[in-house]
Amino acid sequence: MKNCLWCGEELQLLADESNIKRLNTTIGSAFPKDHKKSSGLEHDFGFYKCSKCNLRQICSSSKLEELGCVNALIRYHEPTFHHEDLAIRIISLLGNKSTYNIYSLSPKDNDLAKALKTIIEVRFNGKFGDCTSVASADIILATRQLEHINSKRKIEELFNHSNPGCLLVVEALDFHYLSNKGVHSYLWEERLSYFSINYISKFAESRDFSVMDKHEYFDYKEPFWTLIMRKSEVAVEGKKEDFNDHLIETKPTLIENSKLRLVSACKYYLAINHNHIFVFIGIGHKALSAALYVKTIFKASMIRLYDSAEVKVGSTWNDIAIRHINAVIGDICPSDNALYTFSFSGSNAENIKQEILVKDTQAKFSYIEEWYN
Ligand SMILES: [Zn+2]
Repeated sequence: MKNCLWCGEELQLLADESNIKRLNTTIGSAFPKDHKKSSGLEHDFGFYKCSKCNLRQICSSSKLEELGCVNALIRYHEPTFHHEDLAIRIISLLGNKSTYNIYSLSPKDNDLAKALKTIIEVRFNGKFGDCTSVASADIILATRQLEHINSKRKIEELFNHSNPGCLLVVEALDFHYLSNKGVHSYLWEERLSYFSINYISKFAESRDFSVMDKHEYFDYKEPFWTLIMRKSEVAVEGKKEDFNDHLIETKPTLIENSKLRLVSACKYYLAINHNHIFVFIGIGHKALSAALYVKTIFKASMIRLYDSAEVKVGSTWNDIAIRHINAVIGDICPSDNALYTFSFSGSNAENIKQEILVKDTQAKFSYIEEWYN
């Protein structure tokens, strides 16, 4: 029996037309270079909904408490345009303290922490310190990582054991908005919980937080939201039961729709790509998920992976080595007739395409977004 990471109730396996219930893979954010060390960095996962709070979630067999940025050397390019504004709103809610202790849930908080520290120093003439426990934090940063938490203990630590009076700052992609727009690339087996801003607000309120500030960034290419919540100084009786009594998430087909979209894209590309050779150029979770589903749907598919980042080149994913982008052309056989999927566009991609066509004259091309949108 599997239980909801958030409310603890029993989960129901989601059935859909694709009939893919569980998949097995190397954790895609790990990029292990030592083949022996890659054991323990595999997981199998399935698709579920909670019978009580209705949250859509992916259950992973991994023992890791957090997924999504397992290799700390990977740089994530999250938006930063709103950080100064967000940092000012955070500080203004804390009042005039002389020292602020900042807790960061993951390396994804580094840029926001930097903006906060600058504003604390320059505008408020204050001091700051990094802390390693939520129990002593004034500000807890949890941007783009709550959805990757793979442990009920970790969620409880964050919400139940945080310092009374502290601020909790959450940022996440707007999965519901994206789904409504037909953009499904948020689906990733290391992104375990597909909550809305409403869900996190309600959950936090049941753990004695009050919502102080919420912003939704619909204009950005991948819309997201931010929440600033304050932990009450005293516990409020009966709130936890209040949360469990309601079906908080009502959108019924968030994971199902995105999974069906990816499966239908795989079937389409398998049909037009007769040699079943799939070359992915630029490796992130979108390319690895596409590769995993292709391989699951048609086991004899041949996958080749290329990237230019030092941390990724030479690592292995499901026994496939990620090779340097410069090796793409040399690895081509003229009879490949492969499908080449780029995760980037522009002149660099166009130049590589021209070189590919010289050798693999029947080559087909796609962009990774086309697999999801
Ligand atoms: Zn639940």
